Amino acid sequence: MLKTITVGLLPAAFAATAFGQTAPPRANGVPGYTDTPLVPGQQWHVHDPARPHPPVVTPGVSIASPPSDAIILFDGKDLSHWLPATQTMPTGVTIRPGPPAWKVENGYMEIVPGTGDLATKEKFGDVQVHVEFALPTTTEGSRVDRGNSGVFLQGRYEVQIFDEWENPIYADGQIGAIYGQWPPLAFAGRKPGEWQAFDIFFEAPRMDGDKVLRPAYNTVLLNGVLVQNHTELLGPTVYRAAAKYLAQPAEDAIVLQNHKSAVRFRNIWARRLGASETPGKY
Ligand code: MG
Repeated sequence: MLKTITVGLLPAAFAATAFGQTAPPRANGVPGYTDTPLVPGQQWHVHDPARPHPPVVTPGVSIASPPSDAIILFDGKDLSHWLPATQTMPTGVTIRPGPPAWKVENGYMEIVPGTGDLATKEKFGDVQVHVEFALPTTTEGSRVDRGNSGVFLQGRYEVQIFDEWENPIYADGQIGAIYGQWPPLAFAGRKPGEWQAFDIFFEAPRMDGDKVLRPAYNTVLLNGVLVQNHTELLGPTVYRAAAKYLAQPAEDAIVLQNHKSAVRFRNIWARRLGASETPGKY
């Protein structure tokens, strides 16, 4: 279990991360930073190694088939609903030319490191999203890349995917975290190779230019366990910085993050939530 992690067995040095940074320094056996700003409104530094980790919860077995009004984004056959993209913190997503280069086989898609992110062709405001994924079983490469991916709502707001089995990370970088802002309420992850599921209920921010009329909120189940409970987002996801809102469109793509790790995905679908169809009313 996570609590039995023996940090001393981890390699002493790691390669540069996808962000061009070296791996986080460690404090009390946990990687993280204390030279970062405080998370706005909180007592913790961004990626604070001293921030308490949540309890471990072993999830039950649950698989969610799409309901009748779901927009199918990936049914295991092809990437026809996706475009190659680059997610840039905190400004969002840039669509790139050409077809997406991730591998599709045996009913799943698999990240091909170095080929960029994937973005949905369709754009969303308030949305329910179901995503199933499996962490790779290989443990090669940089520790901070291991099983690292994420679901970016509107190409900006990440729900973190990360393999922390025998590989601890700062609490706001754990699987199910609102990365850099809020740790999950519980660690409910499954082991590498096992299929897992996120059910995400995202309320988009209401903006007037760069003025926030109403912040974004996210509610997230990981393997049926509540890990974010109508959590108020502090702004688009950023690394080693304090989040703040920027002007953005009312709707934007869902992005799957390519963080140099061959995470697999299957059974991805979405449902538009009513409020986004009546802008200004919520
Ligand atoms: Mg990530």
